[in-house]
Amino acid sequence: MKIKNGQDYLRSLRKINPVVYYKGKKIKDVTRHPATAPHARAAAMTYALVNDPEYQDLATAVSHLTGKTISRFTHVHQGMEDLIKKVKLLRVLGQKTGSCFQRCVGLDGINAVYSVAYEIDQKYGTDYFERFKKWLTYIQEENLMVVGAMTDPKGDRSKGPAEQSDPDQYVHVVERREDGLVIRGAKLHMTGGVNSHEILIMPTTAMDPTAKDYALVCAVPVNTPGVTMIFGRQANDNRKDNKERIDAGNPVFGGVGGEAVIAFENVFVPWERVFMNGETEFTGNLVYRFAAHHRANYGGCKTGLIDVLTGAVTYLAQIQGTAKASHVRDKVTEMIHLGETLYSSAIACAAEGWPTPSGAYMVDTMLANVGKHNATRFHFEVARLASDLAGGFLATLPSEYDLKSEDVGHLVKKYFSGVANFPTEDRIKIGRLIESMTGGTALVESMHGAGSPQAQRVMIFREGDLNKKVKLAKALAGIPPTRVK
Ligand code: SF4
Ligand code: FE
Repeated sequence: MKIKNGQDYLRSLRKINPVVYYKGKKIKDVTRHPATAPHARAAAMTYALVNDPEYQDLATAVSHLTGKTISRFTHVHQGMEDLIKKVKLLRVLGQKTGSCFQRCVGLDGINAVYSVAYEIDQKYGTDYFERFKKWLTYIQEENLMVVGAMTDPKGDRSKGPAEQSDPDQYVHVVERREDGLVIRGAKLHMTGGVNSHEILIMPTTAMDPTAKDYALVCAVPVNTPGVTMIFGRQANDNRKDNKERIDAGNPVFGGVGGEAVIAFENVFVPWERVFMNGETEFTGNLVYRFAAHHRANYGGCKTGLIDVLTGAVTYLAQIQGTAKASHVRDKVTEMIHLGETLYSSAIACAAEGWPTPSGAYMVDTMLANVGKHNATRFHFEVARLASDLAGGFLATLPSEYDLKSEDVGHLVKKYFSGVANFPTEDRIKIGRLIESMTGGTALVESMHGAGSPQAQRVMIFREGDLNKKVKLAKALAGIPPTRVK
């Protein structure tokens, strides 16, 4: 692992200089700019944990390609134990950052592409699998962060990739050359894109043979000519100004993902970095596997966030003198219950994992989808309970500038105090943390990250094996199975 710790990682980002825009201006250094730095620091935690004896076993793995110790974020799952360790690792990282630490998307992309590239080669005698293993060995040795790039803009959603009036609404091949491909299009909502080293481009949906130019998997470094990123706005992003340490809520790690548009304007990709090129029948499986791996994560990372939120409201209740009230204990119990329920399905889908023909392990798709679907409800319910317990001051709190003002600071301190001996500043800080973790972007991420709720419902229905369930019911009711359609 060339990048050995969090500081190494941040230093490595300063060298690569990708093209990143934010509020219309170019960002020179994503590790220092107040909009992007908190996200880079959250991702740096994935590097730091490797050196923590308490978590080393979760944060590292032995590469099946080289036998060397690598970051788990670059590992191909070799068994159920790996899948379970991933969930545990994500929970710890959620607890330590209170934020999205972004690196899981690349990990899930690596695992999906690995197994599908193998299967394409089996059918067509191509050499995608060997190419991919070579690229992956490089990622593991260097210990790079990969952004898994799946979601295309999609233009007119009633039309497929090849039917769009603007062909760039899905990333596609515009030229096939002797030495590689030229591609164009964009990917949206790219978590961790601006502070990654490499982009792993994958198709966003199952495609039919008319969409050959869109059935594309390839990898490019983030600083490849023609790649432009535009960093998204987040709720209260003005508060990330380096001077506002209290009002930012989670000033060190930001609190949410840090997403970007990544545009590809005639980007050249050499053949050794192309892992699917026109094999449309494999696009469905790729999306399905990536989505299942990514959905499994939400029982890990979001449970970590719920742990933090539960701790925050508990401390706030102590400050406010409500900790012993029975309704407070009941609501905190419910928050814990919802968090652990989410965690259970992530562990369950890992424990029911299965080997793909390549040897890479997949999670159980049904349980992964159920878990993610629960995240779209439970995280909101936990946020509702946290807001209920915290009280209205979350919405009406004067600013950090007023708290520090010579003229009115004493009033803010006096009238936002609680139980004696607890500093008013603690109440305000913890209130701001709760505000930042229950506000706009954090919850939208839980709803739509890893696919919108409807995408999980489609999978849950499809995997529900209703024929079998009908047979079970008929058998008990004494209806002959022959009458089953
Ligand atoms: Fe990882 Fe996605 Fe969770 Fe962020 S939201 S920590 S990328 S699984
Ligand atoms: Fe996500």
